Amino acid sequence: MLDDQTCLVTGSSRGIGRAVAEELGRNGADVVVNYRSSVTEAEDVVDTIEAEGGTAIAVQGNVADYDEVEAMCSEIHDAFGSVDVLVNNAGITVDKKFENMTRDDWQRVLDVNLGGVFNCTHCLFDDIKSADDGRLINISSVVGQQGNYGQANYATTKSGLFGFTRTLALELASSGSTANCVAPGFVKTDMLETVPERVQEKILQRIPLDRFATPGDVAGIVRFVASEDAGYMTGQILAVNGGMEW
Ligand code: NAP
Repeated sequence: MLDDQTCLVTGSSRGIGRAVAEELGRNGADVVVNYRSSVTEAEDVVDTIEAEGGTAIAVQGNVADYDEVEAMCSEIHDAFGSVDVLVNNAGITVDKKFENMTRDDWQRVLDVNLGGVFNCTHCLFDDIKSADDGRLINISSVVGQQGNYGQANYATTKSGLFGFTRTLALELASSGSTANCVAPGFVKTDMLETVPERVQEKILQRIPLDRFATPGDVAGIVRFVASEDAGYMTGQILAVNGGMEW
C-alpha cells in the first residue's frame, strides 16, 4: 500500500512510534527509525521490519536540536532520497502541578514536543510539498483536547499541534500534500508507566471502551492517514481514545 514511499517516524525506538514504524514497514514503505538514545531498541525495530520483508534504517538524532535534525535529514536523503511521509511522534512528559513546575520543566517539554515538530517539518517541508502523496502526520493527544492535571506543559504542546497542523494543511494544500493530527487517548507504553497506578485506575473509569489503547490501535490509524485512501482529508484531528469525550 505504501510502496515507493519513504517514511520518517520520529521517536520510533519504543512505544507508539515503534508500532507505527513496523506498521508502515509491513505495508511496503522504506522506514526511517529515529531515536535519541535507545540505539539497541531502534536496531531491534529495524531487524523486525526487515524480518517481515521490509526496508528500514535507524538514524540517531535529538529532534529538539535543529543541527542534529539537519544532519539526520541528509543521512536519510543519502539512504532513501526524498521523504514522503513525516510522522512527528517523538514526545516527552515532565509532569508536575503547575505551582511546582519550573521554567526548565516547561521548556524541556516545549523544546521536544513543539520544537522537535518545527525542526523536522522545517527540514523536510520541501520534500513533503514536492511528494506525490506527501503526508505530515503529527501525534497529539487527548490531553491537548481536555487538559490534564499536572500536565500544563504537555497539554500546551499537544493543543499547539492543532493550530500548527491546520496551518500547514493550508500551506501544503496547493501541492496536494496533507497535514493531519492523530490524537491518541491513553496508550500502554513507557510514558503511561510514569503515571501512578491509582491515577491510571481513575483514567480507566473515563474510557467507555474500558481499556487503554495498544500502540497498534494508533499505528493502524496512522497507516490509514499515510495511505492514498486518506488523500482528500487534511487539517483534521483523528481521535483514537476509546470514546473519551472532549
Ligand atoms: P515513549 O514510549 O516514552 O517513547 C518515546 C519515544 O520518543 C522513544 O522512541 C524516544 O527515543 C523518543 N524520543 C523522546 N525524546 C526524543 C528526542 N528529543 N528526539 C528523538 N526521539 C525522542 O512514548 P509514547 O507513549 O510512545 O509516545 C509517543 C508519542 O505519542 C508522544 O508524542 C506522546 O506525547 C504521544 N502520546 C502518547 C500517549 C500515551 O498514553 N502513551 C497518549 C497520547 C499521545 P529514546 O528512547 O531514544 O529516547
